[in-house]
Amino acid sequence: MYLAKNYKRFPVAFVKGKGTRLFDEEGNEYLDFCAGIAVCALGHAPDELSKAICEQAQKLIHVSNLYWTEPQAKLARLLCEHSFGERVFFCNSGAEAVEAALKLARRYAWKNFGPEKNEIIALENSFHGRTYGALSATGQPVYWQGFEPIVPGFKHIPPNDIKALEEAFSQKTCAIILEPILGEGGVIPLSDEFVQEARKLADKYQALLIFDEIQTGIGRTGKLFAYEWTSVVPDVMCLAKGLAGGMPLGAIVATEKVMEALEPGTHASTFGGNPVSCAAALVVLEKVLANGFLEEVTLKGKALFQKLENLAEKYPEKIAQVRGKGLMQGLELKISATPVANFLFEQKKILLTVIKDRVLRFTPPLVVAYREIDALAEALEEALQSVSL
Ligand SMILES: *Cc1c(COP(=O)(O)O)cnc(C)c1O
Repeated sequence: MYLAKNYKRFPVAFVKGKGTRLFDEEGNEYLDFCAGIAVCALGHAPDELSKAICEQAQKLIHVSNLYWTEPQAKLARLLCEHSFGERVFFCNSGAEAVEAALKLARRYAWKNFGPEKNEIIALENSFHGRTYGALSATGQPVYWQGFEPIVPGFKHIPPNDIKALEEAFSQKTCAIILEPILGEGGVIPLSDEFVQEARKLADKYQALLIFDEIQTGIGRTGKLFAYEWTSVVPDVMCLAKGLAGGMPLGAIVATEKVMEALEPGTHASTFGGNPVSCAAALVVLEKVLANGFLEEVTLKGKALFQKLENLAEKYPEKIAQVRGKGLMQGLELKISATPVANFLFEQKKILLTVIKDRVLRFTPPLVVAYREIDALAEALEEALQSVSL
């Protein structure tokens, strides 16, 4: 009643969660293939995570970034030890991580090459968040509607279009920002050739290559970071969503040389790198980096992909394509996906997300079981049968 009407919500209020299951007020059990939109990497309220959060909350909930805390320092070290990164800046959300990356890119160019170098290339159909910088990077004008003018200096090109990429770069380019797999854009993977060319051109024009791994990062695709599937390494990487398993936390990871542009006083966040969120992230990383965990994500992703492929073969009149990597999969339909998602919600108590009207997106907790993938596929088949062309 009192909430802004900015969300279209399903008619349910959840009171409890465990693993891949959510429970509503009436005790109904839901199988969760949304996972807070790729956030609850370890599932709902996993014991280790709840425990670490409680313990940290009993010790220290917040201090200013004028001081040091151990969880933040430990987490930064872990992120660097397991990536190309050498320095980390913490914030609270995905949009804030993108803001930090964009500001870093402009500041780095300003400091090293002068104020003229300020253009940022981004992709059509990308999604980078809702704050003004992130919104301006987002290549979907529908999100700009009524909010313009957006921040100047952004140029959008179609994903996987190498010619457009070559034409977009100039001496004025300070950065290019890419999602390795466009999440909100419809689960669209970038080709390795495109990513390689972006790296080559960024080097040629002394621009930064920024990967927005907010959705693809933290094991979602079967590697800790999706850039590891490509043959390139970015200069800056944005993280959030799965990073702290459900606690709010964002980060940018960058090389030392690049992060140097954020000198004292240039950027900040009051809550960024909060000790409770960082303690949670330490548990997530410990789990995801444990022996065999990422291999399991890859195997489960393959199982999910195969199940979806089987459906695509069986229902070619309704299914256009299966796309994705690991436990980030999309099923593009030839019909609206909303009735299918609604059927699954109402009849089968399964949660998933619809993007771009026609794409069903599957981002279950990384700990999802094979039998739950089977259950999803069975329910999905029924749902597909129930909707008419
Ligand atoms: C979700 C998302 C964001 C925005 O994150 P918020 O925490 O909602 O601000 C940015 N980029 C990508 C790729 C995302 O998936």
